[in-house]
Amino acid sequence: MSRDGGTNEAKTMALNRALIFFGPPGAGKGTQAKKVAEKYHVPHLSTGDMFRDAIARNTELGRLAKPIMDRGDLVPDDLVMSMVEERLSSPDSAGGVVFDGFPRTVPQAQKLEAILERRGFGKPLVVDIEVDANTLLHRIAGRRMCSKDGEIYNIYDAPPKSPGVCDRDGGSLVQRPDDQPEIFRERLLAYERQTKPLEDYYRRQGVLETVDGSGSVEKVTGALAAILERAQQEAQQGRDGHL
Ligand code: AMP
Repeated sequence: MSRDGGTNEAKTMALNRALIFFGPPGAGKGTQAKKVAEKYHVPHLSTGDMFRDAIARNTELGRLAKPIMDRGDLVPDDLVMSMVEERLSSPDSAGGVVFDGFPRTVPQAQKLEAILERRGFGKPLVVDIEVDANTLLHRIAGRRMCSKDGEIYNIYDAPPKSPGVCDRDGGSLVQRPDDQPEIFRERLLAYERQTKPLEDYYRRQGVLETVDGSGSVEKVTGALAAILERAQQEAQQGRDGHL
């Protein structure tokens, strides 16, 4: 095993599929998605980051999404889908892609399936990161984001070297407006009502894996690496069986 919990073989293996991180806000999807994307050299596609970027650039999409995000609601499916489709048209996702915060509704999942089929990918692998409500509240209360590069810290569990300052680029750390307690409650409600039904949707397709997300970042990364390596081996055996 290498230091990041994966085997050397896994590092050279291609992902060749869409990996979806699923779970409530604050579960650690972004942190883990970034690590997996780096390990497999595929794009990390966070629809939340894409919307925040559109807002920062004051594009038409950003202006449409901002009031919705500020309330803690979900952006309408058609806006999400055209943004994702455009992003996926870039050749860098040919070897696979890691989604974080997408899909968030059953219609988004259905449209994604059609896109993946057109791109020649099989079914996605979906990893549900399970975290209890108290842990989520604690994490969100402590979450801070670099205003320059979006790097995530937690003032309780993963603080920066100097308070309020990003270790990587010296940017100031801010609390996301939608991490304020009253907005966060709305986001949790949106998750329960609109996103949680996807769990059943993917379970019925036999593509849902579950990880306990309440431990340390390293522990969750290790559990994920094991799931991914097993899934990659199964996919390889499936391909060999069809030779
Ligand atoms: P996140 O950074 O994933 O927590 O997303 C922040 C906010 O962006 C969400 O609360 C939604 O308002 C919006 N958003 C991000 N991804 C989606 C999506 N797939 N569908 C609808 N809204 C989204």
